[in-house]
Amino acid sequence: MLSPIRLVSEAADLAAHRHNGMARKGRGNEPYINHLAEVANLLATATDGVDAELVAAGWLHDSIEDTDTTRAELAHTFSERVASLVVECTDDMSLPKAERRRKQIEDAPHKSSGAKLIKIADKISNIGARIQSDPSADERDDLADYTGWAEQVVAGCRGGSAWLDTKFDDAVKAARALL
Ligand code: ZN
Repeated sequence: MLSPIRLVSEAADLAAHRHNGMARKGRGNEPYINHLAEVANLLATATDGVDAELVAAGWLHDSIEDTDTTRAELAHTFSERVASLVVECTDDMSLPKAERRRKQIEDAPHKSSGAKLIKIADKISNIGARIQSDPSADERDDLADYTGWAEQVVAGCRGGSAWLDTKFDDAVKAARALL
């Protein structure tokens, strides 16, 4: 078993390599790793740094969905819990987008407490990236659509961290102020 600092550091390194060259959706085509760093840092803050596996899973939460990383590899390199947290945050990409979105709302209340925190942190980060000064009509539509859906997913994830719940509410308020 890796020490807590090594666990997080190895996770950041693997994520940086696997998502290399990818850009995130939203403001300014930021590198994808910015999203992962933000989610991991929200999780570290929400749990006051006591749960290294959760922070590592934050770095890795999109690695199975968006790269060739496998559950077995994560279990072997990190731990069974890190692997299962990431799997819990992985959509079935063979389903159409509307179906994946519907499933996230439906499945959220049944996730582990750690996966619920990752989901909230992910939505905070993704709403934040869509908040831009002077949005176009398309950007405004995308923000309204994403925020409305994220609220439904997060409704099933609340209660594990009051701080994270408030951060999410603040992000929604900032989005609504633009709509
Ligand atoms: Zn994500």
